[in-house]
Amino acid sequence: MKTLREYIKEAGNKKVAIGHFNISNLEALHGIYNAAKILSKEIGENMPVIIGLSEGEEGFVGKVEAEALIKEIRKNDNYPIFLNADHHYSFESVKAVLDVSYDSAIIDAVKLPLEENITLTKKCVDYAKELSKKEGRDILIEAEIGFIGKSSKLLDSIPKGVSEATMTKPEDAKYFVEQTGIDLLAPSVGNIHGMVKGGNPKLNIERIKKIREASGVPLVLHGGSGISDEDFKEAIKVGISIIHINTEIRVAYKDALEKSLEDNPSEIAPYRFLEPAVEAIEKVVEQRLRLFNNL
Ligand SMILES: [Zn+2]
Repeated sequence: MKTLREYIKEAGNKKVAIGHFNISNLEALHGIYNAAKILSKEIGENMPVIIGLSEGEEGFVGKVEAEALIKEIRKNDNYPIFLNADHHYSFESVKAVLDVSYDSAIIDAVKLPLEENITLTKKCVDYAKELSKKEGRDILIEAEIGFIGKSSKLLDSIPKGVSEATMTKPEDAKYFVEQTGIDLLAPSVGNIHGMVKGGNPKLNIERIKKIREASGVPLVLHGGSGISDEDFKEAIKVGISIIHINTEIRVAYKDALEKSLEDNPSEIAPYRFLEPAVEAIEKVVEQRLRLFNNL
C-alpha cells in the first residue's frame, strides 16, 4: 500500500483533496468509513481517507484504542485509512501519539511567537524523523501559522482575533517551512474553525496559491465546515491537498441522535437508536468526499 505521503502527493497531482474527518466515537468512524467504501466501489479503487483525533477527542476515545481500530481496519481490509493526531499542543503529546504509531501529527503552537513556534515544531519534526528511521515508518508532521480560531462548534460570528492581518503571509510560510522541515502546512486563508451561523467567510484563493508556491509543501485546509463548494474547488486547484471536516459531522450526529431518541422514546438498545446517527455522518462525509474528489 502507498504511504500517506504518496497519497497526498498523488492528490496534488490529480487536483483532488483527501478528506480528514474527526471522530469522538465508533459511530463516527463507521459513518466515515462506510462513505469512503461506497465511493471506492463507485470509482473502482480505494479512496484514501484520514481519521483525526484532537487531544480532547483522543482523551475520550483513547489513544491506543483509536490506533488499534484504524490500523486493524487498514490491515484487514487492505484499505488506505490513516490516523492523524489533530491539534496537539505540546511535544510530549505529539511524542505520545507517534510512539503508539499514528501516521501523522499536528503540532499546534500557533499561539506562541513565531520563533518559539519554530523551535517546538522543529523538535517534533526531528523526533518524527528519528522514529521513522528507527521503525521504518514515514511519519508526517504538520504545523500551522496564522490564526483561524480554536474550536469546532457553531458560532454566532467570526472568532475574535481572526482577520486579514492574522492570515498567513507567503514569505512567513516559506521561512517557517525552511526552518522546521515540516511535511504539511495549515495556513490561515480565510478559513476558520467552526461554523458561523450566518455563513462562513470566503477563502482567499490567491493567498493559497502564493503560500503553496512559496512554502513548497502540500497545504491542509482546516475548518472546512461551512465553506462553499465553489471555494473548495478553487482551493484544491491551487494547492490544498487535505481538507478537515469536523463541525458538520458533530452537528449531523447530534441532530440525528436527538431525533432518533425523540422518535423512539422506549428504545434502549444503543445500536438501534444510534443507527440514524451513523447514517447521518455517512451522508455528510459522502457529500464532502464527492466534492473533494470531483465526483
Ligand atoms: Zn484544525
